[in-house]
Amino acid sequence: MSQAAAGSPSNVQDMPAQVAEPAVRNAVAEREALQELQDEPLAAWDWPFLAERTASDSPETTLDVRDYLELYAVVEDGLFHTARELFGLEFTKRRDLKGYLPEVEVYECQRAETGETLGLMVADWWTRPTKSGGAWMGTLVHQNHLGAQKPVITVNTNFVSPQPGQPKLLTVAEVTTLFHEFGHVLHGLLSDVHFPSFAGTKVARDVVEFPSQVYEMWVLHPDVLPRYARHHRTGEQLPEEIADRLREADTQGQGFATVEYLAATAIDLAWHERTHTDPAPDLETFDQDAMTTAGLDVDGVDPRYTSATFKHIFAGGYAAGYYSYLWSEIIDAAAVEWFNTNGGLSRSTGDRFASTILSRGNEADPMDGVRELLGGDPDMQPLLQRRGLLS
Ligand SMILES: [Zn+2]
Repeated sequence: MSQAAAGSPSNVQDMPAQVAEPAVRNAVAEREALQELQDEPLAAWDWPFLAERTASDSPETTLDVRDYLELYAVVEDGLFHTARELFGLEFTKRRDLKGYLPEVEVYECQRAETGETLGLMVADWWTRPTKSGGAWMGTLVHQNHLGAQKPVITVNTNFVSPQPGQPKLLTVAEVTTLFHEFGHVLHGLLSDVHFPSFAGTKVARDVVEFPSQVYEMWVLHPDVLPRYARHHRTGEQLPEEIADRLREADTQGQGFATVEYLAATAIDLAWHERTHTDPAPDLETFDQDAMTTAGLDVDGVDPRYTSATFKHIFAGGYAAGYYSYLWSEIIDAAAVEWFNTNGGLSRSTGDRFASTILSRGNEADPMDGVRELLGGDPDMQPLLQRRGLLS
């Protein structure tokens, strides 16, 4: 993709540089804690194993959290609840409308106050042999005023369907995926543009994940989680103590995760600074140099991808775009903080988020919308705080 919201190469390079130092400091502290657990020097492959062992008292292993996370409760009392509180939207199942397969469910999305139909959400939850893996949002019809078309948006997951009469129970990670994809769905449904080619998620790659990453903030939010996290048999709410521990678990191990990600970003950007006349480098030396230059050389942390295994360096429309996950996360963390300090789950925050971000598609520079929302450029602090990287 030729366009990027980050604006300039120096912006792209400054961002990882600002996170590198605190991330390295945390990774070193994490390494020292893990090194206590074994005599041999800690290697990259020991790291996740030992981290997993120390996390063995995590909330998900002490109680089966899944019993509290039933798919339709998450959809109707989680996703739809947030859409109602934030944007005044109602989702109604339309049994009379047929999807592309019998098991696909169609929901109509309307504005509660006026009854105006915004569009349709086509939910395709279940895995099947011919379906792509993973989870994604898709667009069958792009919203546009040019042809007076309302959007038809799909949400696709690969849940294994339960036995008849049994509930579909989810992990916290799967619930997070649902909220993430629903963030994309709302980007498609709340789109309000003239041309279909600018609608909804048709924005630059480094901002397309932003609304959906922000939407993950509602998964464990105190105004949302208690509504949908109820035991599928007893109806009892997920104990508050477990909810708190799930919230705490979010910031653990972030030193390692951030450094291995940034190291891959540094390698990616180093490749894209070369010209065709530069001689082919030795790959291992090249990777090592890129990490050292970026200040990301931590014993026991390898880059998430090395040059030899790094598909996103050139393929799949990335091309110097691997940094975009971090860039999105900086804006995402800043926006989450904005929500939390401006009323949380409310119509005033939701409407502002819709008018500055979700409705505009690519008709305006998405970064202008972000600045309008935040009242200035996104600040790095919320991200550092979220990742537990503040000293
Ligand atoms: Zn996404």
